[in-house]
Amino acid sequence: MRVRPYHSARSTAAHVYHEDDDCPAGRNLAWFDKVEGSEDCEPCPQCVRTVTSCLDHPATATVS
Ligand SMILES: [Zn+2]
Repeated sequence: MRVRPYHSARSTAAHVYHEDDDCPAGRNLAWFDKVEGSEDCEPCPQCVRTVTSCLDHPATATVS
């Protein structure tokens, strides 16, 4: 499921943010290790793939 961006609070963790709560990398984060937002982070490649691979909700669906 698409969620608001979150990332690891640890400075030693990969600087990527996740947008999907089903992301394997995102699920590896402990609840106390999650911070909302995407500052200083790159998009998580696994989340991007999950979002763009959804055929029911293509990114171009907003074209009127
Ligand atoms: Zn992710």
